[in-house]
Amino acid sequence: MINVDALKRIVGDDYVVTKRDQIQGYLADETYLGVLPKPAENVVVVKPANPEEISAVLKLANEEKTPVYPRGGGTGLVGAAVPTRDGIVLSLERLDKVIEVDKDNMMVVAEGGVTLEQLLHEVEANDLLFPPHPGDEGAQVGGMIACNAGGTRAVKYGVVRNYVKGLEVVLPTGEIVQMGGKLLKNNTGLDLMHLIIDCEGILGIITKATMRLYPKSGATATLVISFDDRRAAIATVPKILQAGIIPLAIEYTEKSLMEDTAAHVNMTWPAKQGSAQLIVIMAEANEDQLYGMCEQLSEIAEKNGAVDVLMAETTAEQGEILKIRSEVGNAVKPKVCDALDVTVPPAAISDMLDAIDKVAEKYGIFIPVVGHAGDGNLHPNMFWEYQEKGLLKDAKKEIYEAAIRLGGVISGEHGVGKTRLEQMEMSFDPKSRELMCGIKKLFDPNGILSPDNAIC
Ligand SMILES: Cc1cc2nc3c(=O)[nH]c(=O)nc-3n(C[C@H](O)[C@H](O)[C@H](O)COP(=O)(O)OP(=O)(O)OC[C@H]3O[C@@H](n4cnc5c(N)ncnc54)[C@H](O)[C@@H]3O)c2cc1C
Repeated sequence: MINVDALKRIVGDDYVVTKRDQIQGYLADETYLGVLPKPAENVVVVKPANPEEISAVLKLANEEKTPVYPRGGGTGLVGAAVPTRDGIVLSLERLDKVIEVDKDNMMVVAEGGVTLEQLLHEVEANDLLFPPHPGDEGAQVGGMIACNAGGTRAVKYGVVRNYVKGLEVVLPTGEIVQMGGKLLKNNTGLDLMHLIIDCEGILGIITKATMRLYPKSGATATLVISFDDRRAAIATVPKILQAGIIPLAIEYTEKSLMEDTAAHVNMTWPAKQGSAQLIVIMAEANEDQLYGMCEQLSEIAEKNGAVDVLMAETTAEQGEILKIRSEVGNAVKPKVCDALDVTVPPAAISDMLDAIDKVAEKYGIFIPVVGHAGDGNLHPNMFWEYQEKGLLKDAKKEIYEAAIRLGGVISGEHGVGKTRLEQMEMSFDPKSRELMCGIKKLFDPNGILSPDNAIC
């Protein structure tokens, strides 16, 4: 039984929602329907206003052994925020303030429920840059940190972990703790903050974060580099990086997929040649630097077999390319029952793509892939059709096995959540799993925070 009266005493009557029709939006996230976990029957949504109220909710949940599911923007793709046991969904939506953009320290301090859209708005208004960009700006600061989100811009600036310098966290047992601060160096004690980052909400609730900012880029360009041969496209990526050109993003895609996506949104994909394409986003301090780099980049691409280099300079042209790229997920979504997130060492991407082709060939299916080529992170789209033919489980397993064989992992950015828990066994040796479960037990002795998620 969930103690609704006690919850109302903590957060106020208006912030405890029990009616099923009013909580539907909190029972799912953006996970593909083929793997979306089924929510529990008896769920209450609680919307605290501050860390103290969150602390009181967690203390109560511990006394009554009630599961608590932290919820950010609900944009996760692995069912992590879905309440699969009777219990409380704890929404961070009222912790929605950007507390400070500190220009001198180049840091932003924001509450856990601030959306990426809000954060970008405040930071850009101060002429600074927060580079990470997981595709959906509805994601919240706490959710992005709990998932260590990646996104396209990780090539130059890295994933969310690289930005987080300080956290305020409410532990599962209710204590409110501070970790780190506006510090670029901090070697004091064990780094608990980095355990919280990427814990997928199982070790604590992030209520406030201090994150590093960068200067705004002065000039940007987007290039689409086309190749007739996929291996040549992928082999060009390290050549670009070795030349000291570090783009914001290097995305791998297939022309046919981009043309279909463009048609889906009534647009035209501008790069007409080749079959395999790299979308490269360049961001430099000024136009001189930008054009110098783009010229060098084109030469490298042509030397490595590119059949066409299209450069979009105006904001509108760049916007069109990026709009079509960002719509790929939506365009294929009706056909897709799950999208994988395998990551291999960047130099092994071609082998990984070959391995995916082999799986497709073996089962007589088509597996379209998009991915962050600069990061070794690929998203093979798994169609409903494979499930209908009874092939999905085996095809996924073989892709995961290939990734691990190539020195990779089953998830590079979306996380394990609930949909990839089964694959944890193939990802870690028993001792590593024992250590992870031991850490969880230390933080959360009663196992109330987000059970059946991320590790065990
Ligand atoms: C169209 C689209 C594109 C995407 N592209 C990318 C991409 O390129 N790269 C990428 O990395 N991800 C991507 N994602 C996935 C998603 O946006 C990220 O995982 C994001 O970080 C989740 O944030 P959220 O606030 O929505 O979290 P939720 O989905 O609400 O929750 C995710 C997990 O975090 C926990 N959590 C949420 N808030 C907190 C908190 N305050 N404290 C503790 N735990 C918390 C939840 O319990 C859950 O376990 C994409 C999603 C969509 C829909």
